[in-house]
Amino acid sequence: MDKNSENKTYTAEDKKKALMYLEKFVREDDSAKYVIDPKNVLCRTKDDAVKVSCIKLNELDEKEIFAHMQNLGFYCALSQDPNQFGIEYINKMSINKDTAILHTAFLKLIDKILEQVPPNSNFQNWDVYSGMAGLSLLFMKVHECDPGVMFGPKSALTIADEYIDNALSSHMKLHNTPSEAGLPGFIEHECGFLSTAVGLYSVAAHVKHHTGDQESSHRYLNLIQSHFSKSALSIKTPSELLHGRAGRQENGNWPHTLFEPNNNLVQFCHGATGICFLACKAYEVFKEKEYLDLAEEIADYIYLHGKTRKGVGLCHGISGNAYPFLSVYKLTEDHKYLRYALEYANICAQWEEKVEQGEFSHSDKPWSVYEGIGGAIWLISDLIYWDQEIFKGFPGLTDV
Ligand SMILES: [Zn+2]
Repeated sequence: MDKNSENKTYTAEDKKKALMYLEKFVREDDSAKYVIDPKNVLCRTKDDAVKVSCIKLNELDEKEIFAHMQNLGFYCALSQDPNQFGIEYINKMSINKDTAILHTAFLKLIDKILEQVPPNSNFQNWDVYSGMAGLSLLFMKVHECDPGVMFGPKSALTIADEYIDNALSSHMKLHNTPSEAGLPGFIEHECGFLSTAVGLYSVAAHVKHHTGDQESSHRYLNLIQSHFSKSALSIKTPSELLHGRAGRQENGNWPHTLFEPNNNLVQFCHGATGICFLACKAYEVFKEKEYLDLAEEIADYIYLHGKTRKGVGLCHGISGNAYPFLSVYKLTEDHKYLRYALEYANICAQWEEKVEQGEFSHSDKPWSVYEGIGGAIWLISDLIYWDQEIFKGFPGLTDV
């Protein structure tokens, strides 16, 4: 949004009147859809997207109109018209009907995972990054978004529990170290979450807590805590965010590897995306505007350069590159970033077609959360169940 827009010359009283005018217009038909046109025009539309009535609100900017529409119980969603990409404002009461595109993709992608790697399969990968612990965490997230959602006869929580049990026994078999307590006795000496037993046990503690098995939950927590101090000192500790030490490069990106000049990657694991989360966190902690400005600048850069062809995973795919938009949106409430996230989610929703057309390269772990469609489901569920107050940011960073 243009920060120097003309609305600065209007008084608070003018704005208040304009908000009342907006409310009166919307209340005339609050089951209709609304769109914001350029130059602060708000239009009511019919089902076929024909504009039936419009008002001009010079006194307000797009952000203020958006905020007030939210106050009035409206939600923004992708336009249903594939030829006319845009945001529509719809009453929260009809959210399920009107986010149909993303909702359909959400269910289709989940079916794909359950068909390809069902919770009782002999899928060897047990970790969060590429395996069943990640899928368990994904279904946990779906359960937290909507505890009533069912996939066939099973709830998302039941599926999460089945995945983590399979992940735990797969890990135990691979390391061949069953202990008397029935727990794997082996834990790697590193504290990273994504690819180690720490992540596996964290997810297990989280899921068991929700299923009501508090005894197991505490056992897994104790396992982590009893190894964590040793782990934290490991030289193998991942340092994704520390790639930022090398500083920003002339093209606006960060180098993908420390002390190497290449900087052509824009993704969570290398380049600008991870740095954006760091800038958001720095702003939350230090409250200094320069960090927020940097986060916005990086998100704008990612929007232009982040449409990677490496698929829809979180690590180096489209879904991961949409999270900076949501993180910045949560801090700024600038509607532009929500629009960016919806646009990227829409690309994720076309995963199957894009794979068939060769637009996405082959992923080694196509069903996983970090390299596969699990990441797309995560992003889409954050959007279709969007709640700014409880949004937890990039999966796996601060949510477990
Ligand atoms: Zn990656």
